[in-house]
Amino acid sequence: YLLALGRMVALALERIDLADDLAEVLAKARADALRSSLLASVSHDLRTPLTVINTAASTLLSFGGTFDAETSRGLLTDIVEEAERLNHLTTNLLQMTRLQSQDIGLRMADLSVSEVVRRVVAHGGRLAPGRDIRFSLEGADMTVRVDTTLFDLALTNVLHNALRYSQPPSSVDIACRRDGDDCVITITDQGIGIPPAQIERVFDRFYRVQREDGGTRGSGLGLAIAKGFVEASGGAISAQSPVADGHGTRMTIRLPLTAIED
Ligand code: ADP
Repeated sequence: YLLALGRMVALALERIDLADDLAEVLAKARADALRSSLLASVSHDLRTPLTVINTAASTLLSFGGTFDAETSRGLLTDIVEEAERLNHLTTNLLQMTRLQSQDIGLRMADLSVSEVVRRVVAHGGRLAPGRDIRFSLEGADMTVRVDTTLFDLALTNVLHNALRYSQPPSSVDIACRRDGDDCVITITDQGIGIPPAQIERVFDRFYRVQREDGGTRGSGLGLAIAKGFVEASGGAISAQSPVADGHGTRMTIRLPLTAIED
């Protein structure tokens, strides 16, 4: 009887081993599939800025000497803007694969919310000069335990959207407040808004709202990263649109505050 029991236990253990192996193989296949679908869908987005950079740089190289200052400046601005776009896209790609793969853990740190938001706002201000970005903090500063790179990127993506899908002179408001054991960050714009039927889908990977005028360029990764980050940190993100007079979008990010140990 003991022998039979022993055999059964050995068999069960073998099965568990097999199940583990299978799970690993499946996880790897999923990660591989994700990597190829990411590459397939963004290779076009990668090529467009590269073509612009290549054309502008070659033109400057061949004819730069004959151009007036304004023409040269225009071409150099194109190069800088497209390089910035490439930089942002590759960062999004890298962080998306990082979020999806189990083996690369999140690097959690206790961060001051106002410090991170101020940094992201300052960067947004440099990218969109002349735009009015207002930051307000209700009450004392808060601390959250999150991955530094992803927190920055998630806020940057949401702020970029608020700026890209609205027109100057309208302003963008970022407000932080405490709600119980959570920190709540809202980013509100006065822009074109999101059609109500599509509001849930904007957080899906690669999902982009089709606009009648063709809309802006984008990869559909920005909000998927924001959602992935927020959920990996134990929080939630939601969208509301319109906000007022049929216009605007408000994104609400909720993150648990770092527990203070006495
Ligand atoms: P991308 O902007 O690169 O297309 P995102 O994942 O950042 O990808 O956003 C998905 C879609 O959600 C966008 O295509 C856009 O139509 C819509 N969207 C996101 N933020 C806003 C906003 N603040 N105002 C209007 N539409 C928005």
